[in-house]
Amino acid sequence: MNCNIIKDLLPSYVDGICSEDTVKAIEEHIQHCEECKQTLKRMQQQTDDVQAIPEEVKKAITPFKKINKKRRIQVIGAIVMTFIITIIGAWVIQDVGAVNQIFFPMRIAVVVVDSADGMEEWERIIFSDKEQRRNDKDYLIYNSVFWNKEITNHANNESDILLRIKDENGNVIVNELLVSPGTSVQLDNLKNNEKYYFEIKTTQGRFHITAT
Ligand SMILES: [Zn+2]
Repeated sequence: MNCNIIKDLLPSYVDGICSEDTVKAIEEHIQHCEECKQTLKRMQQQTDDVQAIPEEVKKAITPFKKINKKRRIQVIGAIVMTFIITIIGAWVIQDVGAVNQIFFPMRIAVVVVDSADGMEEWERIIFSDKEQRRNDKDYLIYNSVFWNKEITNHANNESDILLRIKDENGNVIVNELLVSPGTSVQLDNLKNNEKYYFEIKTTQGRFHITAT
């Protein structure tokens, strides 16, 4: 058999699909022909390489596939958790004021008296939320059990204030109660969930008054 026919047959030989006779013929030829022997060697080498790569790749890829699947679940889990935490976080931050108002209720008021003689008349106190400085109301409702029912005349206020409290029907519940700067008065006789109107009379100045 000449070299060209052998070279045509070598791929089949390498793949192991030649008949016994062809195998015999090729092996006989190779013993004498160095060129075809080298060609076969190269072919076998290449085949080994090609077979070796998938084997290596297989081994390498298999754990990656598992890791990838695990990792995917972890990543999705992390995204979902981040989303939930963000939502809860936003909700908590938004509602801190509201939650605070329930457990530590407080209203603040600033009364400014311009007249040098002080107030002739009783002035209605307008209370606001401590945080947002909104929800201005000219009355106060002790709408939770967490109210101390205390009125504080702040320490940096210039003078005493006189406090008068009326109920919804205009009845005076507390009259001319003196509150010195830096002190508080306790109003235990006031009931929960009723509207009370607070009025003050005082000298000239700017008065920070807190209801807690
Ligand atoms: Zn040959």
